[in-house]
Amino acid sequence: TDQPTTRDGFAEPFLLEVLASGGLDAAYVRAEGNTLYRRGEDGEEIAVLDFVGGYGSLMLGHNNPEINDRARELLDRQTPVHAQFSRHPYADELAAELNRIVQRERGDDESYYAIFANSGAEAVEAAMKHAELDRGLRLSALTEEIDAHLEEVRALVADGTATVPPRVAGSADELIADVRRRNEEQLARGPLFLTPEGAFHGKLAGSVQLTHNPGYRLPFKSLAAQARFVPRDQPGALRKIVDEERPHLLDLVVEGGRVQVVERDHPLFTAFVLEPVQGEGGIHELSAEFVAEVQEVCAEARIPVVVDEIQSGMGRTGSFLAATRLGLKGDYYTLAKSLGGGIAKSAVLLVRKPLYHGQFELAHSSTFAKDAISCLIGLKVLEIMEADGGAVYRRAAERGERLLGMLRSVRADFPETVRDVRGRGLMLGLEFRDQSDATADPLRQVARSGFFGYFVAGHILREHRVRVFPTSSAVNTLRFEPSVYVTDEEIDRLEAALRDVCAIIRDTDGARLAPI
Ligand code: PMP
Repeated sequence: TDQPTTRDGFAEPFLLEVLASGGLDAAYVRAEGNTLYRRGEDGEEIAVLDFVGGYGSLMLGHNNPEINDRARELLDRQTPVHAQFSRHPYADELAAELNRIVQRERGDDESYYAIFANSGAEAVEAAMKHAELDRGLRLSALTEEIDAHLEEVRALVADGTATVPPRVAGSADELIADVRRRNEEQLARGPLFLTPEGAFHGKLAGSVQLTHNPGYRLPFKSLAAQARFVPRDQPGALRKIVDEERPHLLDLVVEGGRVQVVERDHPLFTAFVLEPVQGEGGIHELSAEFVAEVQEVCAEARIPVVVDEIQSGMGRTGSFLAATRLGLKGDYYTLAKSLGGGIAKSAVLLVRKPLYHGQFELAHSSTFAKDAISCLIGLKVLEIMEADGGAVYRRAAERGERLLGMLRSVRADFPETVRDVRGRGLMLGLEFRDQSDATADPLRQVARSGFFGYFVAGHILREHRVRVFPTSSAVNTLRFEPSVYVTDEEIDRLEAALRDVCAIIRDTDGARLAPI
């Protein structure tokens, strides 16, 4: 039977309790397009309109028929799913297709090697690890070069070819020991990542350090390298942080027979990791100014740029990559979510060829990554997206405009309730004003619970059978990420639900939002 049974609740029982308290603990038994179905008391199916879209993994809808046909065909053909350490022509083909699309959007001929992974967070971790491998290799080359210079200076001073000026040090040996001690102190400093405030890059031990939300990050702070969070709206802030943190290693050179101490750049920053449109942080598209500063400072300081397109990519904002419109160019790209067509768990890291280290392929791997089903489904997803000269991207932009227009009309009619609407394509957000100081008791309590958006979502689900959720780190912002097939009628249903909830917040004490 497909009727879910309720036992004692061993699978994340606390989350279930939270969901239940907001009326969000529905069990879905079937899904199609933008609709999820649950069972009513008489066993009938009750349709729920889904605007959450698997938090961005359902660009092509639930159980897309073309993707399901492909999956069935692959299973019927007894496709070898797990065949590690063999040729993977399907992975190669998927990587080639991704290269073609990325090159078209970047308007250049940069090539990228692909490392496959199982989840978005794993792809981010792969990027962090690859960039750290690269930093480590650059750093060893630099320290070897400095060591060679120090020994050269020792020999030149010993045979009288060079002298150590008295204002620099007493003797060559003392100077060399001093330089080594200073450098060792510098080298003991761990690597640092850079990422914008509000960033979300996953919840694994490494990637969570790049996730700004302190509730997710701080308990695990001691597990991995840390990030400096850069404000998105303060020009010059990034340059200041890089200058503040940027340390030097000391080196010795001989000029005109005299030994001189010089500073060499110490590559302390592993990478700058950023989302072109922040998702979980509340739907914020980066500004052109911020992007320009990131590109400029990172190029100058040789900090690789990792563009996390896990939520914003795969056509969601009207182009394959959200970075394209912003002119943001990455050394690395991460993709996941809709790459799996709504059925596979799949992610990929793209690494710009000149930076790539082949040894990483052994350093990072997984039982499940790069499997035939995920890759072949990924190819099917790209085939659908690229068909008719990119009709899916055009449709995402057009549907997004229509949805945004509706959100703007709601804001215009409820300016005291809706603070802002924003986003691009089918990655849109509606931010409610903070009600923590509302005079009405229930409303204030709901706001102060820290789950405001979830209560709103609970009401909309109960009363309108529409599924919405706030972004995970900004709970006053509802996010809308329906599939590209979203209809006018579905947008109208969302509008009715939002207008109802806005009227409740504006005109009543909010008691109807509180737990049932
Ligand atoms: N990066 C971004 C930008 C994301 O939005 C997410 C998921 N919300 C992740 C990384 C992590 O992906 P996953 O949940 O597949 O680990």
